Amino acid sequence: MDNQITIPPIQSISKFSEMLGSKVDVLRLDLLHPIVSGNKWFKLKYYIEDAEEKGYKKIVTFGGAYSNHIVATAFASKSQGFETIGIIRGEEPKTISHTLQQARDYGMELYFTSREEYQNKKTLEEYYLNKGYYIIPEGGCGSLGVKGSTEILDSVFDIKTYTHIICACGTGTMIAGIIQSSFPYQKVIGINVLKGYTEIKNDIIDLLDDRFKSKMFEILNEYHFGGYAKSPEKLLNWMNNFWQKEKIPTDKVYTAKLFYAVEDLISNNYFNNDSKLLVIHCGGLQGNLSLPKGTLLF
Ligand SMILES: *Cc1c(COP(=O)(O)O)cnc(C)c1O
Repeated sequence: MDNQITIPPIQSISKFSEMLGSKVDVLRLDLLHPIVSGNKWFKLKYYIEDAEEKGYKKIVTFGGAYSNHIVATAFASKSQGFETIGIIRGEEPKTISHTLQQARDYGMELYFTSREEYQNKKTLEEYYLNKGYYIIPEGGCGSLGVKGSTEILDSVFDIKTYTHIICACGTGTMIAGIIQSSFPYQKVIGINVLKGYTEIKNDIIDLLDDRFKSKMFEILNEYHFGGYAKSPEKLLNWMNNFWQKEKIPTDKVYTAKLFYAVEDLISNNYFNNDSKLLVIHCGGLQGNLSLPKGTLLF
């Protein structure tokens, strides 16, 4: 898959830099690839490689109706010549989401499940394993997902100059990779977009290799805006403002909450003014397609 991507640019966030009186940059992983955008490319890379090495021809994975992971897996699998099935949480609706339609267009076969059946993932996994499918866990969560995520910072030429690296978290896989690949003096901060998922910190520690388990990082749990699928008007307005000022598009599930949090932290003097921040724009823009037309200016 390596030949399909470009080096993600780094851009200054001028308003945030001004507020902090120091450097605030964004790593634009959203520009990495038009479909397998953001962290999903990194998280999938070693699963796909592993499936190839082990001689699998078919891949199965799991996700919700708006899952960036589902689209990314559909695309990546197709481009590497795999057949894929996506096990979707929830019954099939009359009109399927843009996300799922896109996955279908890339040849993914969708299998809708009741929530109860979905809960019983182990049974589903066994079934597909017996039928010769390679299993990619939901959200790419697992050690191969972490391994891929340790490469996210590789392209950042002056990575050593940053004191803080900040990203959004869903499963915590990406941040585990960032924690493992950052320097000991750098503080890694995760903005958790899931409401009430406070065990995330321990789950992240579980994902870390032994020698990184004591490394310091922080997860902030107060920026979920009501929960994973929630994007109140306040957030949508903020996204439009941020676009007008910085020309950075954000997605309503992850990155809007991330950049909002960074602004809020700066204005509450969370960082001292010799801090240098790197914010990771981890993509996910396709999720905005579920909003009514005209909601966003970008
Ligand atoms: C999937 C995703 C995340 C969450 O990554 P995890 O590794 O599950 O924590 C964050 N941002 C975007 C845009 C995503 O698509």
